[in-house]
Amino acid sequence: MAEKSVAEKLKDLYHLQNIDSQIDEIEVLKGELPIEVSDLEDEIAGLETRAGRLQQTVDELNAEVSQYEKNTNEANALIERYTSQLDDVKNNREFESLNKELELQRLDIQLFEKKMRELNDTIAGKKETLEATRERLEKKAKELETKKVELNEIIEKTEKEEKKLRKESEKARKKIEERLLKAYDRIRNNYRNGLAVVTVERDACGGCFNQIPPQTQLEIAMHKKILACEHCGRILMDKETGTIAEAQEEPAKDCDAAVETSLQKTPAGTAEITGGVFHFTGFRG
Ligand SMILES: [Zn+2]
Repeated sequence: MAEKSVAEKLKDLYHLQNIDSQIDEIEVLKGELPIEVSDLEDEIAGLETRAGRLQQTVDELNAEVSQYEKNTNEANALIERYTSQLDDVKNNREFESLNKELELQRLDIQLFEKKMRELNDTIAGKKETLEATRERLEKKAKELETKKVELNEIIEKTEKEEKKLRKESEKARKKIEERLLKAYDRIRNNYRNGLAVVTVERDACGGCFNQIPPQTQLEIAMHKKILACEHCGRILMDKETGTIAEAQEEPAKDCDAAVETSLQKTPAGTAEITGGVFHFTGFRG
């Protein structure tokens, strides 16, 4: 394609920036919701595993209690039998032997009862934890439901718009040469607000708000080359061209607002973009 004027290149970049900023706005609207939803899903899965394990432990402990109950019943049956046998003892030795057995069974029962008390205490504790886990699970499930509804509403509302903007962004990118696109993407990725192309506002960079010297502003307005802010590295353009670009979003006409000036050299405090690399010192982004 024919070499575009700097003003045209700036307008194309500014146009792309405007589209991408609108996409950014949609992302902000969605905000932390997608992350919150996935965090909640993770937490719920963890709680479900925990509740399952606790329930399993409670079941196992209950089975142990049942076993001790069975043992106690058996011991009681033996005591009953031995007691009735006492009526028919024939000698002292037999009497003593039966009494010894009875004593052993009674000791066993005491032991079983102690074990059951301990187990039941443990079960009560586990059940309490299980209950708390289930309550938390229920709370989190409700939270997730609300967040999902919220997110879906936003997605529904913005999906069409976002799709359209992404298409427009792709189209706008095609108008811009590779090295500028690379620089644009790199700067955009460097800043949370995603601003790579800014206008000079009230003698300051519209991105970092550092002052731009008057001669630099003239240099920017001359459209001899594309300049970047020495403080933040963002591509700078004069407000006038920005306004024209905004007003002429549809027909892209060359509106090089020439500023009469004899300034030729690049003043300190700006950086010239060449070959996709910013040549300047004092980067403090
Ligand atoms: Zn700046």
